Amino acid sequence: MHRETMRAALDAAREPWDVLVIGGGATGLGCALESVTRGMRTVLVEQRDFASGTSSRSTKLFHGGVRYLRGGHFHMVAQSLKARADARATAHALVHDTAFLVPVHSAWERFYYSTGLRIYDLLARDHVTPRSRVVSRNEALQLAPTLRPDGLHGGVIYHDYQFDDSRFALELARAAVARGAVVLNNAPVTALLYEGERVAGAIVRDSEHGDEIQVRSRVVVNAAGVYADSIRRLRSASVTPLLRFSRGAHIALERSFLPGDTAILVPRTDDDRVAFMIPWRGRVLVGTTDVAVDEPSHEPHATLEEIDYLLEHAARYLTRAPSRADVRSAFAGLRPLPAVEGRSANVLRDHRVEILDGMVTICGGKWTTYRLMAKDAIDAAGREGGIAEHPAHPEAILAGPPESNRRLEANLLGGNSLTPGDAREVTRLVREEMARTVEDVLARRTRVLFLDAKCAAQSARAIAEAMALALGRDSTWIDSQMRSFVALAKSYLPL
Ligand SMILES: Cc1cc2nc3c(=O)[nH]c(=O)nc-3n(C[C@H](O)[C@H](O)[C@H](O)COP(=O)(O)OP(=O)(O)OC[C@H]3O[C@@H](n4cnc5c(N)ncnc54)[C@H](O)[C@@H]3O)c2cc1C
Repeated sequence: MHRETMRAALDAAREPWDVLVIGGGATGLGCALESVTRGMRTVLVEQRDFASGTSSRSTKLFHGGVRYLRGGHFHMVAQSLKARADARATAHALVHDTAFLVPVHSAWERFYYSTGLRIYDLLARDHVTPRSRVVSRNEALQLAPTLRPDGLHGGVIYHDYQFDDSRFALELARAAVARGAVVLNNAPVTALLYEGERVAGAIVRDSEHGDEIQVRSRVVVNAAGVYADSIRRLRSASVTPLLRFSRGAHIALERSFLPGDTAILVPRTDDDRVAFMIPWRGRVLVGTTDVAVDEPSHEPHATLEEIDYLLEHAARYLTRAPSRADVRSAFAGLRPLPAVEGRSANVLRDHRVEILDGMVTICGGKWTTYRLMAKDAIDAAGREGGIAEHPAHPEAILAGPPESNRRLEANLLGGNSLTPGDAREVTRLVREEMARTVEDVLARRTRVLFLDAKCAAQSARAIAEAMALALGRDSTWIDSQMRSFVALAKSYLPL
């Protein structure tokens, strides 16, 4: 997956492509893999980096959504649980089973949550994932030794799957390329192309080369996440919006706040949602919030109010109350929600496929259902483009990154300088995973920015220097990368 090779393939391609996908998040990459697997000639363009939008800022769970049980949305939970099983089967190396403890403080609560989670088990129809079970107060405290014991009656354990969202996205991209798709980052769509009234491609700017490319295709799939309406407006400024947006923030705390492998589900927050405290790569992730926002943005920030909200909820359950000084990183993402009335927390994370003058827009949904969304979108794309399918490849089984990737992240988090092996890994990330900036390496090829923003800022120069060698860049590039990354890292620690 070399960027120059991808660009050359785009220039040399016989047109039209079958499918042009706009957007390199979970949805777009899922679509590209689905379409190329069905034998369609596929190209995907991403305006910044793969998963740089919402898809790197999730809670990192393949889950059925236990909270939807409360509203009785069994069909949707069952659908997501099926998608969860699908992800486990096709990306075994990238997902892992995690036990969640729901602390209960009365016999009634124990009955209520154990019944709900039994329904969750039944809906999963899954013989692999461990079933939920009631645990005593003692066992709850053994599993989560830092759980506050006062008033604790016991708990209910259930299971979902954790994954690294941006890594999963990169592996989708790699699998699509391995099957013959072309994927290009730093390549925003600036206008659509038409044949008569029909959308028949797009004008793409190559931000690295500074030129424009016309990409003609039988069908365009708009998977631009929170920017899906912006793409639709390129066709017609007066289209009715499909989406609205809600910001969700997470904080990363030292692991000592929740040692062990068991995550905690906070079953009811002040604003009547659920929250999670999840062990993740040597930290504890606490999330999320739900704040309506009017406009999409590339780099939403967690506010101090959101950070305090998460700290307060964590403090109610943990023996040692975390403070602002304990936050190692705070990140936020925007949920692309259907533009329907009602509180965003109550809006179902369902997806929607719309056709506008031949362009297929796929939006909403969640990471868990990325493949279901891709199937629906590519079914529609095949119909709209009149594309015959030639199932070219068996189902993709996603592999994980080499061990050198985890070692690089661990060394950076440990404050160590780059080893020769680390420098080689940075070169690999540039040559094989299309990393172009320090942010690409520290935010998404490794997760240092999300785990420890200060550490990420301190690592920036070493990474910039190693990248400069691989990319043939000079000291001016290194300095400008340093400046922009350090400013970004500060916004992940607004304390
Ligand atoms: C706080 C939070 C927690 C979440 N937790 C979970 C979870 O635990 N489990 C789960 O299943 N789901 C979760 N979700 C939902 C999930 O993350 C999203 O549904 C999913 O990532 C959306 O993917 P997407 O590809 O549609 O959007 P995005 O990831 O935003 O991708 C769209 C891409 O399109 C690109 N783009 C935009 N305009 C253009 C253009 N003009 N040209 C080219 N490219 C363009 C963008 O740069 C972006 O990369 C969470 C969401 C949030 C916000």
